[in-house]
Amino acid sequence: MATIFEKIINREIPAYIVYEDDLVISFLDISQVTQGHTLVVPKEPYKDIYEMPENILGHTMKIVSKVSKACKEVFEIEGLNILSNNGAYAGQTVYHFHFHVLPRFIDDGVSMKFPNHMNDMTIAEYKKRALMIKEALL
Ligand code: AMP
Repeated sequence: MATIFEKIINREIPAYIVYEDDLVISFLDISQVTQGHTLVVPKEPYKDIYEMPENILGHTMKIVSKVSKACKEVFEIEGLNILSNNGAYAGQTVYHFHFHVLPRFIDDGVSMKFPNHMNDMTIAEYKKRALMIKEALL
């Protein structure tokens, strides 16, 4: 079944489009978590990061960079988060890969605080985790 993003790409439903080329579209997130909150979406309906071809991901990231700079230029931002939720447990609600470009403002009510488990770690455990990822990258 087509996701809401495919419907936007196919002009079946409206969106506030800020950029479009052959591979990527970018439009305002309907929720406007903060002023200028924008999505950058490959046109092909790859479900998540695992399905994304690296060349399309590279181009998508280039547009993320351009949208980020545009937001910095036009809004009085204090910072900016770029994020992609992959999988329901990570907060993905639309199963068509995308990046959020989220301008940040003083007292904007958004919390991105991550827990720090450094004090529970051992050198052996760091080494073990690094090795697992390193080997999977080969
Ligand atoms: P995620 O939860 O990371 O999958 O992000 C999906 C995002 O799509 C949410 O932030 C929604 O607010 C946004 N969204 C859902 N429907 C629309 C729509 N019609 N136009 C623009 N953004 C939408």
